[in-house]
Amino acid sequence: SLEAKGIHLAFGSNKVLRGIDLSVRAGTTTSVIGPSGSGKSTLLRVMNRLIEPDQGDILLDGRSVLNDNPDELRRRIGMVFQQFNLFPHKSVGENVAFALRKLRKLSKEQARAEALEQLDLVGLKHKADVRPATLSGGQQQRVAIARALAMKPEVMFFDEATSALDPELVKGILALMADLAASGMTMVVVTHEMGFSRSVSDTVTFMDGGVVVESGAPEQVFGDPRTDRLQRFLSDVL
Ligand code: ATP
Ligand code: MG
Repeated sequence: SLEAKGIHLAFGSNKVLRGIDLSVRAGTTTSVIGPSGSGKSTLLRVMNRLIEPDQGDILLDGRSVLNDNPDELRRRIGMVFQQFNLFPHKSVGENVAFALRKLRKLSKEQARAEALEQLDLVGLKHKADVRPATLSGGQQQRVAIARALAMKPEVMFFDEATSALDPELVKGILALMADLAASGMTMVVVTHEMGFSRSVSDTVTFMDGGVVVESGAPEQVFGDPRTDRLQRFLSDVL
């Protein structure tokens, strides 16, 4: 399981996270929804220690990770962003193999073999030797997902993984994410895709103004929102 407890974070005088609790059971998917600026991306970045919280704790399997080596945590938590963040001058295969050599310390041959295996799982083994720029957005995002999965993470974070994609490519990536969720991966998914959130999540967490306003099963959150803020948000986005 992954837990955030009492997370506070301010950028200067801007209090972006104001006492966030989030608990993700192993093998479940939590989607995080909420208006722009509500702190969703910042929360993910705090949970994999790209940013240190001012207050609060992050627990992985019941143990605080705040004193761990951040590289170690990044090996355990895979992250996929809206912008794919691939290395433009490396081939697709090297993009996936790179962290395997750096962080998992695999040999060049072994890293290449595992990279090809992982690319095969997202249907892109045949693109291993081309540069990312020659791929479609959807293919680039598959490479980014393969790269994250190659680290054999315990948890996967997705931050608006489909927001930069052409509409016709969105479905394929959402299907890949749904497969991953069904395979038992522990996932935290920040998304504007309400259909995905409703059908794939075990838990939906609605954030606004740096706090969790409502959290619960999708039927509860979408079917019977309790607060005005969530009702207004849903009527704006649905
Ligand atoms: P969106 O749906 O638009 O992606 P979000 O919910 O992910 O929004 P965040 O990106 O977490 O929101 O931003 C929350 C607040 O924190 C915003 O007011 C933003 O301006 C501020 N913020 C985010 N990152 C930084 C930073 N590195 N420095 C200063 N302020 C930041
Ligand atoms: Mg964001």
